[in-house]
Amino acid sequence: MKGLWFLLVLVAVANAERIFAGDQVIRVNVQSEEQIQLLQALETDEEWGLDFWLDPVTTELPIDIRVPSSSLSSVKEYLNAHNVPFSVMIANLQELLDEEKAEMEENQMRERSTRSFNFGAYHRLETIYSWMDTLVAQYPELVTKQEIGRSYEGRPMYVLKFSTGGYKRPAIWIDTGIHSREWVSQATGVWTANKIATDYGSDVSLTSLLNTMDIYMLILANPDGYAYTHSNNRMWRKTRSVNSGSRCRGVDPNRNWDAGFGGPGASTNPCSDSYHGPSAHSEIEVKNVVDLIKSHGNFKSFISVHAYSQLLMYPYGYSCKDAAHQPELDSVGRAAVQKLTSLYGTRYKVGSICNIIYQASGGSIDWSYNMGIKYSFAFELRDTGRYGFILPSTQIIPTATETWLALKHIMEYVRDNPY
Ligand SMILES: [Zn+2]
Repeated sequence: MKGLWFLLVLVAVANAERIFAGDQVIRVNVQSEEQIQLLQALETDEEWGLDFWLDPVTTELPIDIRVPSSSLSSVKEYLNAHNVPFSVMIANLQELLDEEKAEMEENQMRERSTRSFNFGAYHRLETIYSWMDTLVAQYPELVTKQEIGRSYEGRPMYVLKFSTGGYKRPAIWIDTGIHSREWVSQATGVWTANKIATDYGSDVSLTSLLNTMDIYMLILANPDGYAYTHSNNRMWRKTRSVNSGSRCRGVDPNRNWDAGFGGPGASTNPCSDSYHGPSAHSEIEVKNVVDLIKSHGNFKSFISVHAYSQLLMYPYGYSCKDAAHQPELDSVGRAAVQKLTSLYGTRYKVGSICNIIYQASGGSIDWSYNMGIKYSFAFELRDTGRYGFILPSTQIIPTATETWLALKHIMEYVRDNPY
């Protein structure tokens, strides 16, 4: 009996949801290279357990850090002692998380009783997967669901394929949620898939596009991570693979692609949130996408959707040299953002990953671009840090709606400029 209790306690501890009571998210506005280095020194400091929401790499951008409540006074003292200015963006993270959870539960009950799906809410993996079946059932002539493989923990990875026929037509790839905690990304993916299905046949431009091209959407690109953000740790970013020789799990799936793999802007430390993994494509979630893209062989655009910072980026990340098609990608990106901004005035920056954020190696759109997929783009959706990863669900539909204008512009450009 005693043994059983011990086992139950162990299971309870293993499944305990991480609480962030009293944790704050602070914004540091660094003013010199020296101050950046001061902050970089903290990244690997295990004692303080800081979680960088925006990395310390450039004086051009703010640095957002989740500081555990136990380290707050030490961190603030450290910053004051070095004259580094900062402000508090989120005073108590757990309060926001409690609100988010309460809203989700309320919505779940409402959806059950009305047998509907609310696109303006965050959902668990199982709910999104069963919604996919509903969409396929509603639009069987247009939408199919394909399993492209399984995740590390054995979850199926589903791609929604929008196609009106033909064999391996030129295609557009859109993935969301490769970083699991960026919830507005997956939610935007769901809304977008529904938008494509409902507008086909009535939106003239989208209809003409789908009469010659296919669209593939991978909404949960990191299913294990996503499930884990719901069950254990809302702030989880990486995959859930075991790192041999380390107590820390997971690889940053957007540092794991075979494009400048292991270079600057990725960590060799398995405990880091930007750990690149033991080798390129070591993560099965990445490998599954690589295999699909390669075997298909006719993708013309590859779009990866992240949050947050309000940026539209193109290659490269692993190098600060201009990509061969830099002028064209830049002008397509600027026109797309102009459309996005026209709706609610949301402001975006446009540029190459390296020039607009920082050098980051092993990213997906660098890989796709080097594979010959010219129109490779990455979005960082809302916001600019007021809520960061905990974007209120009331902003899902506005975010998705404005983003759609940019996505549509890119897709139309790809349709009209075959190569
Ligand atoms: Zn991301």
